[in-house]
Amino acid sequence: KLYNQVQDLKGSIRVYCRVRPFLSGQSNYLSAVDHIEEGTVTITVPSKCGKGRRSFHFNKVFGPSATQGEVFSDTQPLIRSVLDGYNVCIFAYGQTGSGKTYTMTGPRDLTEHSQGVNYRALSDLFLLAEQRKNSFRYEVSVQMMEIYNEQVRDLLVTDGLNKRLEIRNSSQTGLSVPDASLIRVTSTSDVIDLMNIGQRNRAVGATALNDRSSRSHSCLTVHVQGRDLTSGTVLRGCMHLVDLAGSERVDKSEVTGDRLKEAQHINRSLSALGDVISSLAQKNSHVPYRNSKLTQLLQDSLGGQAKTMMFVHISPEPDAVGETISTLKFAERVA
Ligand code: ADP
Ligand code: MG
Repeated sequence: KLYNQVQDLKGSIRVYCRVRPFLSGQSNYLSAVDHIEEGTVTITVPSKCGKGRRSFHFNKVFGPSATQGEVFSDTQPLIRSVLDGYNVCIFAYGQTGSGKTYTMTGPRDLTEHSQGVNYRALSDLFLLAEQRKNSFRYEVSVQMMEIYNEQVRDLLVTDGLNKRLEIRNSSQTGLSVPDASLIRVTSTSDVIDLMNIGQRNRAVGATALNDRSSRSHSCLTVHVQGRDLTSGTVLRGCMHLVDLAGSERVDKSEVTGDRLKEAQHINRSLSALGDVISSLAQKNSHVPYRNSKLTQLLQDSLGGQAKTMMFVHISPEPDAVGETISTLKFAERVA
């Protein structure tokens, strides 16, 4: 029995790797991905004496032809646990251009078939809530926030965008961002409307050359409250869907000023996230949540009874192989 409990705990963090296909016009490249076999991805690494290979192991590896539906399939049990009162975090990690936003949201010209994890998670949530309507009454509310340069901003306000928000931690209500808009939703299309507002707000301040969305973390938080109609018991669960900032390292000799500051903030918060997840995986008694806004914001949903899923993205281009290896090393550390 104890063994099963340990297995359950171990199973609370799952790491999936997704390899982006070549984009149109790139068909003559040779992929840096040598091969994929079940949970293993093998990368061709250029080395001094010709070529080497390195393999990395995950819960699953999705190749370039994997569909959005396939990528989402293992997320379904997590949606059920949110309705059962548990907290869930789903992350997209990887260098800019590796497919994070594609996985979480989808391509720009979105169709039902190409909808990403966010849409699918929400429609499953509403579907399951509907199926349980004779025994539970569910209320669903949504927040959407961005963390940029260690400042939390509300993406669902129509004014006062630049106001910094405080993260509060109280023993009664747990962790919350009380000043971020919290909007009640009753259908997937409500959420789609909100996500569109959030995406528009995220683009504010971004110039064409300086796409800010790749340098901030965005977090869609879904709060679910379910009342058991017979006992009156109230269950609360929440799900964070996080599209992380690009993980690429920036050459300190090439950037200065604001750009360097941004890069340092991103580096620090991603490594703080890695530290938290790996110390949870190792069952350390001290988990360093306080080292970044990101890990503070998600504290209630990382560790304990919460379930975590990370989609780690890599690009197939040989000239991205340095970033690919460092992405896979990060992922291996948290897996
Ligand atoms: P990121 O958010 O990591 O910067 P994007 O999700 O914006 O990367 O992806 C970069 C480009 O690659 C986009 O044009 C996107 O539509 C395309 N893309 C990413 N993943 C896939 C995929 N699995 N299939 C087809 N196109 C993809
Ligand atoms: Mg993106």
